[in-house]
Amino acid sequence: MEEKKKTAREIIEGYDGPPVRIMEVCGTHTHEIFRLGIRKLLPEQVELISGPGCPVCVTQVGFIDEAIYLALERQVTICTFGDLVRVPGTNMSLAGAREKGAKIRIVYSPVDAKEYAKEHPKEQVTFLSVGFETTTPSACLSVKKAREEGLTNYSILTANKTMPQAYEALKGSADIFLYPGHVNAITGTKLCEELAKEGVSGVVAGFTAKELLTALAVALVRFQEGGPFFVNCYPRVVTDDGSPQAQKLVEEMMEPCDSEWRGLGVIKGSGMRLREEWSAFDARKKYKIPPIQGKANPACRCGDVLQGKCKPSDCKVFGKVCTPQHPIGACMVSGEGACSAYYMYGEAE
Ligand code: SF4
Repeated sequence: MEEKKKTAREIIEGYDGPPVRIMEVCGTHTHEIFRLGIRKLLPEQVELISGPGCPVCVTQVGFIDEAIYLALERQVTICTFGDLVRVPGTNMSLAGAREKGAKIRIVYSPVDAKEYAKEHPKEQVTFLSVGFETTTPSACLSVKKAREEGLTNYSILTANKTMPQAYEALKGSADIFLYPGHVNAITGTKLCEELAKEGVSGVVAGFTAKELLTALAVALVRFQEGGPFFVNCYPRVVTDDGSPQAQKLVEEMMEPCDSEWRGLGVIKGSGMRLREEWSAFDARKKYKIPPIQGKANPACRCGDVLQGKCKPSDCKVFGKVCTPQHPIGACMVSGEGACSAYYMYGEAE
């Protein structure tokens, strides 16, 4: 009689292979895995660790300081995603700057920020452009449209980052990477395939319960079989080539630069900035922002959390001094941050 096929859940719960560390590169995966109760299914020897894939969490302290400089010293209206407002800078957050009179507006997209600039021609408006391959194209689009519409009061402050160099920097931190499906939807899968050839295993995962369980089950089966592997477990969205239109737009308007990652330091070539021909829309050049070296709170271990070196609950101030109401570091502020996930879902392992 043919043996009954196991479900993804049965494969995960019944895993009896060697210890394995799986890194959730993406903060949304961290939150969804907690929320769906998937952690409770994992046998002891399967460890999930958080990675650097939350754009707010990896944004350097100095970037917040630069935004505060623009808002308070240059009276620029700052348009930003909501998560960034409470991230601590060296001396204060953007929320603190707002209390001192800064104009901080929350927007849902860079194009919204460009629209705000269009509707308020007397204000100088800067959008805080953070994020990975998923959000960079929309920042470019806002600049392109601003130029087409003749806006001279709109710019972006870039801290855009790309994942490939981070994967390189994190090699060895985990046995398997759970790649973020939305990033691969833009970039395609070639890089992940190349990483597998270099010995780095990973699976691309979607975001529903079924997609996450499937990705984890595939990862565990392939890990037990041995040898580096790559499997695209999100084929309904992720193709080999990704989105050529988005890639072309970014390539036309931006160029790689070195970028500082919270906790990981400066990673060569891991940032994106506007090319020279778009410099009128580059807030750093437009306002000649002086070099600012940000300083994180010394108690904060966001850097270790983002590299999978410790769990949020290993941080001495987790849940005591540092809470979502009074965050000390970015990982507790962001809706995708590992510390906020651990706090919200009550896992203080
Ligand atoms: Fe930083 Fe707070 Fe997380 Fe500790 S608990 S690492 S202080 S964000």
